[in-house]
Amino acid sequence: MRISVIGSGYVGLITAAGFAENGHTVICVDVLQEKINAINKKKSPIYEKGLDEILKRVVGKNLTATTDLRKAVMGTDMTFLCVGTPSNGDGSVDLKYVKKASEDIGRVLKEKRGYHVVVVKSTVIPGTTEDVVIPVLERNSGRKVGRDFGVAMNPEFLREGVAIEDFMNPDRIVIGASDKKAGDFVESVYHGFSSPILRTDIKTAEMIKYASNAFLATKISFINEIGNICKKLGIDVYDVAKGIGLDHRISPHFLRAGIGFGGSCFPKDVKALVYKAREIKETPAILNSVLEVNKKQPLKILDIAKKKAGKLKGKRVAVLGLAFKAETDDMRESPAIAIVNELVRKGAKVAAYDPKATENAKAIFGDKIKYARSATEALRGSELALIVTDWIEFKNLNFKEMKKKVVVDGRKAINEDTLPNDVEYEGVCW
Ligand code: NAD
Repeated sequence: MRISVIGSGYVGLITAAGFAENGHTVICVDVLQEKINAINKKKSPIYEKGLDEILKRVVGKNLTATTDLRKAVMGTDMTFLCVGTPSNGDGSVDLKYVKKASEDIGRVLKEKRGYHVVVVKSTVIPGTTEDVVIPVLERNSGRKVGRDFGVAMNPEFLREGVAIEDFMNPDRIVIGASDKKAGDFVESVYHGFSSPILRTDIKTAEMIKYASNAFLATKISFINEIGNICKKLGIDVYDVAKGIGLDHRISPHFLRAGIGFGGSCFPKDVKALVYKAREIKETPAILNSVLEVNKKQPLKILDIAKKKAGKLKGKRVAVLGLAFKAETDDMRESPAIAIVNELVRKGAKVAAYDPKATENAKAIFGDKIKYARSATEALRGSELALIVTDWIEFKNLNFKEMKKKVVVDGRKAINEDTLPNDVEYEGVCW
């Protein structure tokens, strides 16, 4: 199959690379020339394990990158829409990238001969594909969905950090389509995947994505709330999580209590679902609580830090980890943002270190903090260390160059058993 992918970010580039690795001919498109240049030089513009290796194999063979959307759509049979769907200030989804890309694709479909399917992979609130994408495509192409071209919604469930593995071996593939022909067309690109394929209508496919993310976010806020209670009762919530996770109805996944969820998906997707629910006069009580718990959770690390280390003003504080989770450079909605901003507001001198996210962090914090090149450099001379991301390299850190060895762990990232006696260690919920 000849495939074009519009938007070459975390989802688009993985989709493009994954399909190319499976033998399809892929053209990926982005509005940012520097991303396109990097891809064509076989260099991933984002950090994702294994991506550079795939790009080395496929770029110049069956994967090319361009800023020319027209050329990409004209030369392919199927177009995946993978542009961003960020939050508006009120929590609703900002559809400007989806609308613009749909207009551009529509104009190309006007001139293009032969069958074409447009597949929405971006996360969009139920109703968006039918009420926004299809009308924009029809208006700009002068053609009719179902008769002249097909539309499908194929949500993406990959996790950053293990994105390639998730794309290649998803738990399920969901395809919601305007008609059977369009759905079959999309299913054919997944030929060779061993995952179950679920065919639905378009709105259901959109909702499956939101319900999945909302459920996972709920699980995290739930265990964080249990963790906060455990902390006051002197119980290690990780032992509790082990005990409940053995129940197959609960499962052990997503029960790592800590400073809350971040990233480009959970916060914005839960907010968007809350917004939609309110719009249709539903009160999403659980989802509201999920967000409320998550908003307070990052600052728990500072409450504990203040109790252990006293006033933060003037103190050198090492912040270890900035990315919203390990194995990514993504800072979007990272709990580190609230923590670092509060430290700065309180007058602390922050020395931060992250193995991959420093460049993205600089765009957020500027020169308000210092950026260390290693954990040791950040810890040197510090009176307090906060563990914000569970990078594996933090597991057995050496704290001997700290001025005062007070460590507060927001992720259960440290191997407590190997800590020397002179390190004062405390976890957020354990
Ligand atoms: P991203 O911001 O990393 O990438 C989006 C890309 O689209 C950017 O490179 C941007 O320059 C490009 N773009 C915007 N308008 C364009 C246009 N008109 N033509 C061509 N390119 C254009 O976003 P992302 O993290 O890849 O997310 C994309 C979508 O996938 C979102 O809806 C998100 O919710 C969803 N999603 C993300 C993840 C994840 O882990 N990141 C997982 C599942 C689903």
